[in-house]
Amino acid sequence: MAPHKITLLPGDGIGPEVTASVVAIIECTGVKVDWETYFVGSEALARFGDPLPQEVLDSILRNKVALKGPVTTPVATGFTSINVRLRKTLDLYANLRPVKSMPSIVTRFENVDLVVVRENTEDLYSGLEHEVVPGVVESLKIITERASTRIARFAFEYARSHHRRKVTAVHKANIMKMSDGLFLHCFRKVSKEYPNIEADDKIVDNLCMQLVINPNQFDVLLLENLYGDIVSDLAAGLVGGLGVVAGANIGENGALFEAVHGSAPDIAGQNKANPLAMLQSAVLMLQHIGEISAAKRIQDSIVKVLDSGPEHRTRDIGGKGTTSDFTAAMCETLRRGTRAGD
Ligand code: NAD
Repeated sequence: MAPHKITLLPGDGIGPEVTASVVAIIECTGVKVDWETYFVGSEALARFGDPLPQEVLDSILRNKVALKGPVTTPVATGFTSINVRLRKTLDLYANLRPVKSMPSIVTRFENVDLVVVRENTEDLYSGLEHEVVPGVVESLKIITERASTRIARFAFEYARSHHRRKVTAVHKANIMKMSDGLFLHCFRKVSKEYPNIEADDKIVDNLCMQLVINPNQFDVLLLENLYGDIVSDLAAGLVGGLGVVAGANIGENGALFEAVHGSAPDIAGQNKANPLAMLQSAVLMLQHIGEISAAKRIQDSIVKVLDSGPEHRTRDIGGKGTTSDFTAAMCETLRRGTRAGD
């Protein structure tokens, strides 16, 4: 079979380390990938004068699939987040974050299994800010009927195709009656097309409290951009933190898979980073490109490796191992699985 052509953006900070680990693990499954690798962020700015060169966008548009490591965004000054630019330019309007408890990662909760669907293109991330008069700035929250309707449809379609029972819209429509009101209105309208899926809604502050009391009551959560950003990190914390949760940005032009966490400059280059989140994102990617069996074998191997002792998992999830220890254990488990299955 011809190799899959996939755009690879290793990113910076711990990005190159976790990306190298995931690329090695995918290779150990036997899935053939022809990676098109590009610099983005400050490295690309220094080399090419643009943190997100056009050829990167062209590659993703051509291949329709990309795997991306985290990229550092300068705070308060400097270039616009390339993550936001990628999502907006390619119109990757749906951010998907499955949040599931993993055996061997002990947290306060058991059997958490929910999916956060976040609208990716508008809301307060529109970047429309200005100074009204000295000392007063205004940041515009944009909510449109078009984007709210298509993200609601994405959430219900996802629920339908993944046999989920309920979609909960999350909002603050009691205060932002027009913007969040429109988002909620679109959700309710779309929900009527899916009579077999339960639809309800929660005010965002209440949702946060409910999530940390009993996360098991939720199934698919649908949120605008900002609430989605915050709640997806909260949800990651329920199952072990940013080091273990996958993410995907999906639109009509392609799909970009990336971990939820950032570039973790505090541990970069120290062989301490947990590649699990990036690997879980790669599992979503393999499912997306039809490599279902390889995705399943990676998932099964993750459970075995995490179970096999602290030396094979990184410190952020209570282990004693390095990035390389985890990678080697994954490859060995995948190879053993293949030999046993021969
Ligand atoms: P961060 O996720 O990089 O780090 C938060 C904490 O979690 C740190 O203590 C870090 O060591 C730890 N951590 C994160 N990922 C880990 C992993 N895989 N293994 C072990 N520990 C891990 O968040 P931050 O410090 O707020 O952001 C750092 C930079 O990353 C910022 O410039 C931010 O803009 C950027 N960022 C990028 C993305 C992305 O590219 N998608 C997402 C979030 C943040």
